[in-house]
Amino acid sequence: MQTKEQTVNEKIEALWEKRPILISGPCSAETEEQLLATAQQLANTGKIDMLRAGIWKPRTKPGMFEGVGAKGLPWLLQAKKLTGLPTAVEVATAKQVQDALTFDVDVLWVGARTTVNPFSVQEIADALRGVDVPVLIKNPVNPDMELWSGAVERIARAGIKKIGLIHRGFSSYGNIEYRNAPMWHLAIDMKLKYAGMPFINDPSHICGKRDTLLDIMQKAIDLDYDGFIIESHIDPDNAWSDAKQQVTPQRLAEMFNSVTWRKEDINSAAFHAALEKLRQQINQLDDELIQILGQRMKIAENIGTYKKENNITILQTNRWNEIMDRAIAKADKAGLSKEFITKYFDAVHMESINRQKKVLDS
Ligand code: PEP
Ligand code: MN
Repeated sequence: MQTKEQTVNEKIEALWEKRPILISGPCSAETEEQLLATAQQLANTGKIDMLRAGIWKPRTKPGMFEGVGAKGLPWLLQAKKLTGLPTAVEVATAKQVQDALTFDVDVLWVGARTTVNPFSVQEIADALRGVDVPVLIKNPVNPDMELWSGAVERIARAGIKKIGLIHRGFSSYGNIEYRNAPMWHLAIDMKLKYAGMPFINDPSHICGKRDTLLDIMQKAIDLDYDGFIIESHIDPDNAWSDAKQQVTPQRLAEMFNSVTWRKEDINSAAFHAALEKLRQQINQLDDELIQILGQRMKIAENIGTYKKENNITILQTNRWNEIMDRAIAKADKAGLSKEFITKYFDAVHMESINRQKKVLDS
């Protein structure tokens, strides 16, 4: 899609509609040579739509590499001239917004450590008033969807028309599988809530290490994400930040080749007919499940009446353990996981208890 004749503005317009949107570049701009070489190699793959680079790095602890600062902005401009790739930078303050715009950065992003702070997000929003620049908003560090949508609303109220979302996972205590747990269901809620906005996955910060990137990428494709932002570096092992999770531009291209890209929809009538039939079956079963759950709750209420008359507690631990053991054994035979059936029965049990409580209180 990147012809030499296209201006960067036209590219951004096209990019916003393109699927998948592929953004890559180093976690941090370190030196001019490193940035230009990474950008050139990324452009050579022919797969990348935009160059990312951290200029100001929010680090958890002081004394670590905190980014090269504004002196890296001319390098980024140079990389754009060299490759034709639009550029993206993380901003956390009004000054950083102004500096980035002065050096023609094409897309700004709000980092996870900034989305958590409404003061900072508002400062960025105020600095953006009257400016026409796309903004990508990462999920907050903690799984608080209200903070994420709050940030979207602040940036939107500043008049920014092109807003996109980046899912980079959530920090959680004791998690060893991921650097930031994906908690897909929360992200998908946001994706559905802001259906018109590009919804981009950041496998690098979810995984924290190279070897699981592909799994996360495939999962995001299967869940109909609109694109990726993935960190890449000419010499990942010696990167000044996030060394473990970066890949070479060449490896990135291989990864893009090895995942299975899917379409949300295809136009074949036979496919639609088959899908429609299966969806009707699902609807039918869902209707029956709801009916049956309603009946189950009515019986629970009847039990509540007996408990009230005999003045006994709602929660009968032995009975509940018996129900769970029975359900888990049956679920296993039906191909349902213990984890799923436990969650499902916990929800059913809660509702049952609430209904019985109402009876006891009446
Ligand atoms: C980054 O993209 O390099 C970064 C700092 O990410 P996050 O805000 O997701 O931690
Ligand atoms: Mn990083």
